[in-house]
Amino acid sequence: MMPEIPEEVRAIKARIAEFVREELHPFEAEIAERGEIDEGKLSALRAKAREAGFSNLNMPREYGGMDLSVVSQVALEEEAGKTTNGLGYMVADRGPRELLDLASPEQIERYVMPVVRGETREAWAITEPGAGSDIKDIATTAAKDGDGWVLDGEKWFVTGGERAGFFIVLAWDGEEQASFLVDRDAPGLEIVRTPAFMHDPYASKHVELRLTGCRVPSSARLGGDKGTKRWFSLERIMIAARCCGAAERLVDLARSWSLEREASGRKISEYQAIQFMLADSVTELNAARLMTYHVAQVWDQDDPSILHGKTAMAKLFASEMAGRVADRAVQIFGGRGYMVENPAERYYRELRVDRIWEGTSEIQRLIIARGLLKRGAKAYMMDGRRHPG
Ligand SMILES: Cc1cc2nc3c(=O)[nH]c(=O)nc-3n(C[C@H](O)[C@H](O)[C@H](O)COP(=O)(O)OP(=O)(O)OC[C@H]3O[C@@H](n4cnc5c(N)ncnc54)[C@H](O)[C@@H]3O)c2cc1C
Repeated sequence: MMPEIPEEVRAIKARIAEFVREELHPFEAEIAERGEIDEGKLSALRAKAREAGFSNLNMPREYGGMDLSVVSQVALEEEAGKTTNGLGYMVADRGPRELLDLASPEQIERYVMPVVRGETREAWAITEPGAGSDIKDIATTAAKDGDGWVLDGEKWFVTGGERAGFFIVLAWDGEEQASFLVDRDAPGLEIVRTPAFMHDPYASKHVELRLTGCRVPSSARLGGDKGTKRWFSLERIMIAARCCGAAERLVDLARSWSLEREASGRKISEYQAIQFMLADSVTELNAARLMTYHVAQVWDQDDPSILHGKTAMAKLFASEMAGRVADRAVQIFGGRGYMVENPAERYYRELRVDRIWEGTSEIQRLIIARGLLKRGAKAYMMDGRRHPG
């Protein structure tokens, strides 16, 4: 059973869908033609999406949000998945809610509120050249020095780092790991490189940072690492939601083309080879979508015992499903599917990262397997009942 989505959220979902169709799909086509993103137009569209009220909806009401449930966020995130070039983030523009659990009132005032007001952005700097899948491998250190900290290390793949006003940097403070709020202009912080990626041209860049004797005040340290773990897990369910949105658009595009295209005197939709690809895609999409909404409901029930494992299942299945659906869509379009001007080509490249970031497919499998071995299969059944951890 699909969970109920409140009327007001359904109305926002419809407005986002319209924005994606009317504003972002033409922009995608323009990007494909130019081979690059018009940054001026990108900023203008971001401002327009913000004005339309698509930002911070996950934040508590006292922070200007709607305190949306995870199910409602998933419903909106699906629409974000229906556009390429990373443009979807502007219509499902979640605020830094996880920071609220970690930050002091002063840190909230200084860092979170400007993000909520749209004056700046945050970027998470966790991965390093020598550490990705296992954050225990990070080498960045934070040494206490007088009334502050000195950070040393290197951070890779920092998404949104090109326009972030501050970074959330994970480092070793002695034997424990802690996160630090580091201003973009902190002495000793340097953006070393902005490499190109498979999904370019993409609305966000992924920068490399170097921290060399980077001094931050004692107030820069965030409390605990629970928020970071929660952020990773919540991002995983949102990735699953975007993959479902992407797959839905791909199935529709491939279906329409199959009804239009003729080969050997017949519509290709009349060939079983094509029909079977469409049938597999829509079936797998539905399985992923049901799983994603179910897991979102588990988040809303605040049932922590199996949340991590179930979220891993949704991320794993939905991202691998979307990869297969994009591959079949390219096939159904034939040569046209290989052209950059075709959304199927762009999705084929762009969806690849969903099997890598926020934990690779292998890491999701490890999480699932470890939980399964510990608790047994019953705990992982998605039948809507709560099972004892
Ligand atoms: C476009 C992009 C944006 C990103 N944005 C951010 C960001 O904003 N902030 C940030 O901090 N990071 C970010 N990342 C980093 C991302 O989270 C990591 O790339 C990811 O976690 C994998 O780490 P790795 O690249 O070091 O791969 P590795 O950990 O080196 O893994 C290499 C291979 O080994 C496998 N492997 C590793 N360990 C095991 C194991 N125990 N068992 C079986 N197989 C294993 C992996 O599955 C993979 O196939 C981003 C990455 C990309 C590509």
